[in-house]
Amino acid sequence: MNKDVVIIGAGAAGLMCAIEAGKRGRSVLVLDHARQIGKKIRISGGGRCNFTNRNASPANFISQNPHFCKSALARFTPTDFISLINKHSISFHERNHGQLFCDDSADQIVRMLTQECKLAGVEIQTECEVHNITKAQDFQLQTTIGPLTASSLVIATGGLSIPKSGATNFGLKAAEQFGLNIIPSRPGLVPLKFASDDFKPFLELSGISVDAEVHCNGISFRENILFTHRGLSGPAILQISSYWIQGDSLSINLFPGRDILALLHAQQQSKKQLLTILDQFLPARFNQAWFSQTSSSKPMNRYSPGELKSIAAALTHWLLTPTGTEGYEKAEVTVGGVDTGELSSKTMESKKIPGLYFIGELVDVTGWLGGYNFQWAWSSGWAAGQAV
Ligand SMILES: Cc1cc2nc3c(=O)[nH]c(=O)nc-3n(C[C@H](O)[C@H](O)[C@H](O)COP(=O)(O)OP(=O)(O)OC[C@H]3O[C@@H](n4cnc5c(N)ncnc54)[C@H](O)[C@@H]3O)c2cc1C
Repeated sequence: MNKDVVIIGAGAAGLMCAIEAGKRGRSVLVLDHARQIGKKIRISGGGRCNFTNRNASPANFISQNPHFCKSALARFTPTDFISLINKHSISFHERNHGQLFCDDSADQIVRMLTQECKLAGVEIQTECEVHNITKAQDFQLQTTIGPLTASSLVIATGGLSIPKSGATNFGLKAAEQFGLNIIPSRPGLVPLKFASDDFKPFLELSGISVDAEVHCNGISFRENILFTHRGLSGPAILQISSYWIQGDSLSINLFPGRDILALLHAQQQSKKQLLTILDQFLPARFNQAWFSQTSSSKPMNRYSPGELKSIAAALTHWLLTPTGTEGYEKAEVTVGGVDTGELSSKTMESKKIPGLYFIGELVDVTGWLGGYNFQWAWSSGWAAGQAV
């Protein structure tokens, strides 16, 4: 079979690219090894798909080259995706920080993309494995549905997270085969594990969450942190995990936006226990775990100003060193991937191998939690769709 464009991976980026290429009159075939297309879309956002973020800007993405994502994000914006959602009468709502979710179900997004593919004359083949790719004038693929030839080949096989959903390293292997550099991958938006003795009391707090500001490598996020039976999760931890490198420490401010030292000083004449004061601000079980690690609580009027200063400092700069992450099984995304230096930021085409494109999460562009990763998939898929 001969096609203008073959796209490997029927996820968010691959389907968007297919729609755009099909609209331009190209003959397009999308291949996926899974039985169902768009599996990560279906499970995303707790089944409601946080399909974009109103405020998405290049600052919300991690990449060795922070400028790379600018062109695609500017040419296919959250507003453009919202227009598509409106065209299909999919109702949605906004949550914190500009995150947009379907009111009903993530399946609506997959149905919308499938309908758009149909309208654009795109063919989709599921349960198809690609065994081998070579390039002469065109790309030759050996697949379970037989040999295929295409003048443009788009690799859109996504990241490594959630292997159960069908994630593979196919795209990284293909990039390597064609001599493209890869930025080493690691799990992102992932819970962190803590195994040190001083964290042990906190492992008993599974399910408790606290508003906090978490700092690592010059960036910080203020949202909830959630105690788990292995360590910490919750939005602030997931966000910072994408910046965390093995060996780094986190600094956690448990009193963000409040002057804890002033609060303690105001109570310095009181006979109330320090624990009772802290219980007004933080969950009592957390405070008990905290004091089991340091000293025991005393009445406020028995603390010196110096002691109160150290307590305030410890609560606003809680230093913790994760032992690791919960890995790709629990990660929402993969940080790293195909080096953006190998690709045109306008078209996603390889600079070395004309006609070969890489899009979506496979590329070294990783979004924050909050709809940014889908926006990158739509934008990069759209950009390639204009060029293939
Ligand atoms: C649990 C979870 C929830 C998430 N929620 C959100 C959210 O709400 N908002 C958000 O912005 N992001 C979310 N993400 C991230 C988002 O799903 C991804 O960033 C996005 O799907 C990437 O799109 P993609 O097209 O690059 O890859 P994918 O959507 O992963 O698509 C890749 C496709 O390639 C196929 N494939 C893989 N290997 C092969 C192979 N060897 N041969 C053929 N086909 C192959 C796969 O079957 C898949 O269909 C979530 C991720 C997870 C895991």
